[in-house]
Amino acid sequence: MVLAEQVCKNFGSLKVLRGISLEVKRGEVMCLIGPSGSGKSTFLRCVNHLEVVNAGRLYVDGDLIGYRERGGKLHEMSSKDAAKQRRDIGMVFQHFNLFPHRTALENVIEAPIQVKRKSKADALERARYLLDRVGLAGKADTYPAQLSGGQQQRVAIARALAMDPKLMLFDEPTSALDPELVGEVLGVMRELAATGMTMLVVTHEMGFAREVADQLVFMDGGVVVESGNPREVLANPQHERTRGFLSKLL
Ligand code: ATP
Ligand code: MG
Repeated sequence: MVLAEQVCKNFGSLKVLRGISLEVKRGEVMCLIGPSGSGKSTFLRCVNHLEVVNAGRLYVDGDLIGYRERGGKLHEMSSKDAAKQRRDIGMVFQHFNLFPHRTALENVIEAPIQVKRKSKADALERARYLLDRVGLAGKADTYPAQLSGGQQQRVAIARALAMDPKLMLFDEPTSALDPELVGEVLGVMRELAATGMTMLVVTHEMGFAREVADQLVFMDGGVVVESGNPREVLANPQHERTRGFLSKLL
């Protein structure tokens, strides 16, 4: 579902991604860990072409992201086409970024109506189902400011799911939450994984990684240092840098 081939990204002279190659198969969950500044968020943003890669290729469900190939050459696609590609990729951030003047329900129906041109009735039906799925059936008419961080993040997940994505990207979805609220969000993500959603998750929740992820990838300095089965990587890291990072985390 996600294939990265030697993805490189620079910001000016700063080489942030230095040849990232990885693959997430359909229905798999990959957790991405690594120190601050190692390029995790940048990589996620490249996957939906919020950042333009400098070299290498990214494919989602077989489609080359951000570029069209013509006569053996790559041409960056129009922003309209990139936006079209992005519709199939849900993204959840550390800060929930809900529309503050819209209720939970209104947040969830916005994109299906505006972007997918769904009828209001269809969007409402789907949104109510999704809010129920994230445990917020009773909060449909509540505004974000009246919701806890964990509830807001669950609305954000429902909002992303409302576009029927093929792939869900999560960038530290629980890092901004009070510790007692982390579990409810991870629970929703765990259930989502159980439905077969393909997920790429930047997180430092090692319990989640161990139990839910099919692959754990440790990045440092813009490269994949180590990857594999999460239980194996966590129990028996092969590289000194991985060991050092994990020892600070656990
Ligand atoms: P964290 O754990 O702190 O979220 P990260 O692994 O997600 O870190 P990135 O946010 O991908 O790291 O940033 C990687 C490097 O790229 C950092 O040095 C950062 O300052 C730099 N960077 C990221 N975005 C930009 C940008 N738009 N312009 C310039 N530099 C950037
Ligand atoms: Mg980040």
